[in-house]
Amino acid sequence: MTNTTMTTVHFEATGAPDVLVPAQLPLPTPGSTQVLVKTRAVGINFIETYQRAGVYSVPLPFVPGTESTGEVVAVGSDVTHFSVGDRLATANATATYAEYFLVDQELAVQVPESISWEDAGALPLQGMTAHYLISSTFRVEPGHKVLIHAGAGGVGGIAIQLLKARGATVFTTVSSDEKAKIATAHGADHVLRYEGFAENIKDLTDGAGLDVVYDGVGKDTFEQSLTVLKTRGMAVLFGGASGQVAPFDLQKLNGLGSLYVTRPTLAHYSQDRQEISWRMGELFDAIESGDLNLTVDQTFPLAQAAEAHTYLEARKTRGKVLLLP
Ligand code: NDP
Repeated sequence: MTNTTMTTVHFEATGAPDVLVPAQLPLPTPGSTQVLVKTRAVGINFIETYQRAGVYSVPLPFVPGTESTGEVVAVGSDVTHFSVGDRLATANATATYAEYFLVDQELAVQVPESISWEDAGALPLQGMTAHYLISSTFRVEPGHKVLIHAGAGGVGGIAIQLLKARGATVFTTVSSDEKAKIATAHGADHVLRYEGFAENIKDLTDGAGLDVVYDGVGKDTFEQSLTVLKTRGMAVLFGGASGQVAPFDLQKLNGLGSLYVTRPTLAHYSQDRQEISWRMGELFDAIESGDLNLTVDQTFPLAQAAEAHTYLEARKTRGKVLLLP
């Protein structure tokens, strides 16, 4: 490699999207267990908007980005899982808003030739989240009745498709007619609006309720989500797109049917190479078999990361938003 510097996007102070600006930085050198990757696509996620806005504190200046894909161009002395030229994807790197990024070999997987760069960039974070929610947090089996909120969104859209392949009956919520069409195309059995969703589900299940609710909307939906569960059902709160859920009285779980509640996060469900490879392997298989179709909504050049953040925060997304170097 002849380059000594690379283009990145960073911010020196927190604030609105326009704090994201291009910066030339030295090309990093892999540590003993790291690989250096030439970036092909970077997945944009909400966490980076929280970091940029100062909601989550990060050291400044900061190059955001955790989810990315590309070709391995250099490997550390102890790397055994990758060679130069391999196609790699990860949800767990750092500083991926850049032409090159480093990742530890334990936190990445090989990408099959059959998977496009765009799909490889769009899949890891939302895909592994949908996978762990329905495979590990609450293992969905054929015949289970499931609600996943925001069914036209990233995690929601992937989860609906995986749930249908598994034989579940899927209920979902959306905020517009256009998004209802998207959720229906993903395969949802019942696409509802947020207003009155709990009553509608009670009617649709003749009062029996659901086995599990996956709620990434949070503040606006969580209390209602608890009311659609059957006795001993499980509520999985996995995000707060509408805001964080306020502290609540655990005694309510008794009154609503000895319910279970959990608040999981991807890091605890992608703890090592074995777990990451299992999840990504099943997701690649689902794409290859046609069970899973990813939707890349918008791509932006790396230098336009600010526009990409503005787009994400405007609740406009109909699928994944990628940066392309
Ligand atoms: P999405 O693409 O699904 O976008 C979020 C969706 O939430 C929107 O499209 C919107 O759909 C819905 N929404 C409802 N209320 C609001 C609101 N007030 N403002 C904005 N959006 C709202 O995002 P992701 O798939 O990337 O993430 C979904 C959730 O999962 C997020 O809460 C995210 O933080 C969380 N997450 C959690 C992880 C974990 O491990 N715990 C990992 C990854 C993501 P609509 O307009 O139809 O309501």
